[in-house]
Amino acid sequence: PVDEITDPEPNPVATRKNSQKLLSEWDIPFEQLEILDLIGTGRFGAVHKGKWHGDVAIKMMDIDTDDEKQLQAFKREVSFFRMTRHDFVVLFMGACMRPPHLAIVTSLCKGQTLYTHIHLRKDRFNINRTIQIATQITQGMGYLHHRGIVHKDLKSKNIFIENGKVVITDFALFSIGRLSKKKARKDSLVIPDGWLCYLAPELMTSLKINTDGNQDMELPFSEKSDVHSFGTIWYELLAGEWPFHKEPVETVIWQVGKGLKQPLNHLQASRDVKEILMMCWSYSPESRPMFQHIKKTILRLPKKKGLHRSPSHPLHLSRSAEP
Ligand code: ATP
Repeated sequence: PVDEITDPEPNPVATRKNSQKLLSEWDIPFEQLEILDLIGTGRFGAVHKGKWHGDVAIKMMDIDTDDEKQLQAFKREVSFFRMTRHDFVVLFMGACMRPPHLAIVTSLCKGQTLYTHIHLRKDRFNINRTIQIATQITQGMGYLHHRGIVHKDLKSKNIFIENGKVVITDFALFSIGRLSKKKARKDSLVIPDGWLCYLAPELMTSLKINTDGNQDMELPFSEKSDVHSFGTIWYELLAGEWPFHKEPVETVIWQVGKGLKQPLNHLQASRDVKEILMMCWSYSPESRPMFQHIKKTILRLPKKKGLHRSPSHPLHLSRSAEP
């Protein structure tokens, strides 16, 4: 019965505001979903376009449903998602919570990810648009943190630009699955592509070479590790590439773990712009600012007037990033 799905560990905000609400209200019977084209496959499984009272994205959770710990972790995260309503955060619509069909249903993002813009299309945003995108990310992230949600996987692949607006997706799921679907060889670690450069030093130094082929994701994620990831996104926006992008994995782990940072001398940006990077990439989590503070700092950056008429500006569009 539906009512058997209760909050595994209620969010404190939820408990205070609406203790009566059961997780079952967000349960979507799998049969009600119309599953359409595959959009892509990530660490957890496939994401499909679908229909459920309109267009939706359906993220099939490829987790071991016999593992009670993982199932509870999934339900716990769902209990957090239902609390999120923000302009810059993907709309959570419900979840299929009955094994064997576990899935998360959200609004379907129609635009491209920031990753596609920056790394595939090689779009460059001018400084005003960079400020606008970054501000929206800080607002969405500030909201999630206010709700007690740590993203754990903030990266340009998880940020859509839809009708010119930021949409943050894929939060809080990171620890449920394994680091990679590939089973790691004994005494090795499988690192997903494009992941390492977002990791804060305290996470980097907690990465463990596994001895049994399993890779559990019990890393010390925190609001401040999300801030570090945001720093990497700020860098991507400015540089059009990832930090340390040509370095071997071992070198990155060693350098970041020791507190070394991607050099910024090649970046044609003002000191204020680079200082934001330095704040977010601070070695000690306590020294990294909160998103509200980052937002204020970004908004204080000087904007360029009439950018479309000044092609000499270093961050000028090399190609129009949006129609
Ligand atoms: P990783 O698993 O390492 O995070 P990923 O971000 O590519 O990689 P998923 O988050 O599972 O993996 O996403 C798979 C595909 O589905 C990606 O192309 C992603 O952009 C797309 N996608 C995810 N959520 C949505 C959504 N709400 N609307 C539209 N497309 C989405």
